[in-house]
Amino acid sequence: MDFVVATDLEEALDALGRGALPLAGGTDLMVGVNAGQRPDNVVALRRVRELRQRNGQRIGAGVTWRVIEDEGPRALAQAARTVGSPQIRNAGTLGGNVGTASPAGDGLPFLAAVDAEIELTSREGVRTLRWDEFFTGVKETARRTDELITAVVLPAALPGRQEFAKIGVRNAMVIATVACVVTRADDGTTTVALGSVAPTPIRIPEAEELAKTLSDPGSAALDEFQHLVAAGVRPITDHRSTEEYRRHGAGVLARRLLTRCLREGAA
Ligand SMILES: Cc1cc2nc3c(=O)[nH]c(=O)nc-3n(C[C@H](O)[C@H](O)[C@H](O)COP(=O)(O)OP(=O)(O)OC[C@H]3O[C@@H](n4cnc5c(N)ncnc54)[C@H](O)[C@@H]3O)c2cc1C
Repeated sequence: MDFVVATDLEEALDALGRGALPLAGGTDLMVGVNAGQRPDNVVALRRVRELRQRNGQRIGAGVTWRVIEDEGPRALAQAARTVGSPQIRNAGTLGGNVGTASPAGDGLPFLAAVDAEIELTSREGVRTLRWDEFFTGVKETARRTDELITAVVLPAALPGRQEFAKIGVRNAMVIATVACVVTRADDGTTTVALGSVAPTPIRIPEAEELAKTLSDPGSAALDEFQHLVAAGVRPITDHRSTEEYRRHGAGVLARRLLTRCLREGAA
């Protein structure tokens, strides 16, 4: 296996041009290597300072979960705190989570909820793709192999209320059975994004429309909201859960998070 340790973006892009696979924290990639999927050519990114930078709403791809749990926007920080263990959070990066594009990636529902963009850089220049253009299927993305994910770009104004939660088979070190982010802006605009219930992160526009009309955390219309979320997801049955449980969990989780947002708004 050829292995290059890039010290800046130029070196990393050169290596990608020669067919190298990017390695950030390695917490996903090395699981594959241990399982026998050995890439021929790897470029390590951890010394590329440009990738670790945060600038306003731009979060470098190399920023670790450890940093995000302290300094990220509320719901992304909440998600960060549930990723793996302290060891995983010290090594694992947001860019690696985006690069893997697992349906269960805990960072992805937040990116969907706030309409984040993914910044891709190659020798040809920089392009940004909206989250729903970038994630194309289970562990599939629109990234070309000569492109590096350089950052995640959040909108200039983030909603004032944001909540993340996930359901899993235990409380820690767990891959989500369902993950959800609900956001709410002062004008009532609400977003509902979920992970682990479709091939890519998804939004539920029908539930968002209904939620916009609600302000009372005790409203009977929350039943309908929960129903719309459960009806809008596209889960599968696998070794972690059944399709039915995921559908039910999605509705319950979204309702709980919306209720929290409404309570905060009423306070
Ligand atoms: C024990 C354990 C527990 C875990 N728990 C969770 C969890 O609770 N929630 C969760 O979401 N994930 C979890 N994970 C998965 C993993 O930790 C995360 O997805 C993490 O964010 C991956 O980041 P990384 O930097 O380690 O990525 P890497 O493993 O280095 O890379 C992952 C993929 O992204 C590509 N890549 C990395 N950086 C770039 C870049 N800048 N540009 C282009 N491609 C890039 C790599 O080529 C590779 O395909 C867990 C993993 C382990 C081993």
